[in-house]
Amino acid sequence: GEGGVPNHVCQPLIARNRLLGLLYREPAAEGASASALQLATMLAEQVSLALANIDLREQLRGQALRDPLTGLGNRRFVEDALALQIAGIAGDGRPLSVALIDLDHFKQINDTHSHEAGDAVLRAIGDVLRANTRQSDITARYGGEEFLLLLPNTGPDGALAVANHLLQAVRSLRVLWSGGVLDGITASIGIAAFPDHVSRPDDLIVAADAALYRAKAVGRDQVVVSAAAPDLAGQQPDMSTLHAVE
Ligand code: GH3
Ligand code: MG
Ligand code: MG
Repeated sequence: GEGGVPNHVCQPLIARNRLLGLLYREPAAEGASASALQLATMLAEQVSLALANIDLREQLRGQALRDPLTGLGNRRFVEDALALQIAGIAGDGRPLSVALIDLDHFKQINDTHSHEAGDAVLRAIGDVLRANTRQSDITARYGGEEFLLLLPNTGPDGALAVANHLLQAVRSLRVLWSGGVLDGITASIGIAAFPDHVSRPDDLIVAADAALYRAKAVGRDQVVVSAAAPDLAGQQPDMSTLHAVE
């Protein structure tokens, strides 16, 4: 103000060395008193702490849902995302597909090269999944060398196309490792779609896992699509139908 008495109070909200915001107080007609300034400072400190706590919680939540090796979502992330998708499609008939991807004979990579080499391959697979899926697809590391794709608005044909594309991308992967190249990597994929193969979307992962198990059993490096749900097919189908890759 004119006479050097502040009539606006503008207080930065800082916690953990980050500027979180500004506390701004409208001018008081009589100017801000010393006690009002002191109060504003105390208030700013309290609000800063509260904001920093929220910020930290968000950060921890992010870490709890992410796999540090690949940067993909983890199993918990999948559970949350699936629940959200299921809530979103409730009753409106939109399809939803799951692809479970398991690397073939991955233990051999660890045994032949090293656990670190295995980690490098897992990171590269994470990149392959990111590069070959849409922004709206949900990509996660579901377990050790097992990955999961959640494909919203995608039926069996679309999921099969994505899966075959991924198989090809994995086959052509060359991971630079300790002066050499790790290649010849393959994966097996099981896919299941709602409502074509399961009558409840909650059963998608179990159905995809059964299809993945078949893909392993029939020789690996291929996709197996889940069979239609028995109650929709009206008859007892095979556990899954084989879709050999060209
Ligand atoms: P299959 O074709 O039947 O899937 O054979 P596999 O060897 O891939 O499967 P198995 O379940 O026998 O072995 C999985 C291996 O994955 C064993 C485990 O040590 C390895 N693994 C799991 N998590 C990690 C990880 O974070 N890093 C590395 N390097 N290896 C991992
Ligand atoms: Mg495996
Ligand atoms: Mg596995």
